[in-house]
Amino acid sequence: TKNKTIKEGPAVINLVSEKVFYNPVQEFNRDLSILVLNVFSEDYRAEKTLQAQKKAQNKSVADTIDDTDKQEVEVTILEALSATGLRSIRYAKEVANITKIVANDISQQAVQTMKVNFEQNEVSHMVEASHDDACMLMYKHKQPSQRFSAIDLDPYGCPSIFLDAAVQSVQDGGLLLVTATDMAVLAGNSPETCYSKYGAVSLKTKCCHEMALRILLQCIEKHANRYSRYIVPLLSISADFYIRVFVKIYTGAIHCKKTTSKLAMVYQCVGCDNMTLQPLGGFKPNPTEKNPNQMKAFLPMGPPVTEHCVHCNQRHHLGGPIWTAPIHDPVFVSRVLGELCSERHSLGTRDRIEGVLSMVREELHDVPLYYSMDRLSGRVHLETMPMLLMRSAILNAGHKVSYSHASKTSIKTTAPTRLIWDIVRTW
Ligand code: SAM
Repeated sequence: TKNKTIKEGPAVINLVSEKVFYNPVQEFNRDLSILVLNVFSEDYRAEKTLQAQKKAQNKSVADTIDDTDKQEVEVTILEALSATGLRSIRYAKEVANITKIVANDISQQAVQTMKVNFEQNEVSHMVEASHDDACMLMYKHKQPSQRFSAIDLDPYGCPSIFLDAAVQSVQDGGLLLVTATDMAVLAGNSPETCYSKYGAVSLKTKCCHEMALRILLQCIEKHANRYSRYIVPLLSISADFYIRVFVKIYTGAIHCKKTTSKLAMVYQCVGCDNMTLQPLGGFKPNPTEKNPNQMKAFLPMGPPVTEHCVHCNQRHHLGGPIWTAPIHDPVFVSRVLGELCSERHSLGTRDRIEGVLSMVREELHDVPLYYSMDRLSGRVHLETMPMLLMRSAILNAGHKVSYSHASKTSIKTTAPTRLIWDIVRTW
């Protein structure tokens, strides 16, 4: 047993046993989560205060205003898989407006370690150590009055076994923060495992990192829909060897009916790697209806994709379903960037976060997936075309173009595939 001291941000932790997990590379993940939680908790407090005020106003004068109306809005966080407790210590010290944090782990050694760390960092009044199976603990908190404002899932590998409990134990308008580190599975190395874990087939493609994010999002949505709940993604990041998504959870059966229109199957050409989306279909809004939620006929799945690729006549592989609605909320992303610049934080990975979020903010957030410049040029056996040239050709043809934060050689665009090939062939 080795006793090691680690400092990250304002937290100092002791690693008494090597069996308790600590990964220095995840500092970026923790720093980013701190910024996101700061922006989220401010919004959440404001939203819940407004809701309480409206509720109080709606009561007639004769009604007595009960104690729940007067209560301060509580912002509670569950770190369901906490290991050393480092993340919870940092949330306690660096996130404003937090009432209480529960740090949980199934390992007795981890819980002993975190208790020592909470004492040493003087956060014991705010952070409670819990020794339980994460799912069992979350199921105990699924009643609305018991739910957490935010739940952080940071497991080894795949998070899907925790999702059923997590989507039920977050408040309405609350936040779910989910990490997945099983990138080989999500990026197409074992599509069958991906199906059994996430309910979607992954593909080996240049845009696999964004596809991984979209597979995880459809998986969370599917779990939420079982309880008439649905997700609204705020920020979805691919970094190093993992992905991390931040989604809000709401309740509303009518919104769950819109889920199929946010999903598509993916046809990947084995020759040119072209990706064609086949929407799962959905309810068409009724233009004569004043209420926009009153939907008309269900449109079935999009037209079948041709057996062979129309660009190079090769076969298709079928993957998905993936989430095709936006994966970020650009307004929220700008506010996280604002939080980063507010000088309240001194984060070890500040510059990297600024770089990544600036790219995310510029991403064409309603265009799923992307082309890869090296793959396009490679397919026609040409030297890789300069990125700037490609981007200006697309812009000159009147279409939108952006990078994806997930790849340096990515081209996200509204341009049709035929135009992309014309540009590549003729430059
Ligand atoms: N969030 C931590 C951080 O930022 O440093 C790292 C968490 S580590 C990747 C995963 C932890 O989950 C391990 O400490 C492990 O003991 C714990 N764990 C695994 N299965 C669990 C379960 N079913 N319930 C609760 N904890 C579990």
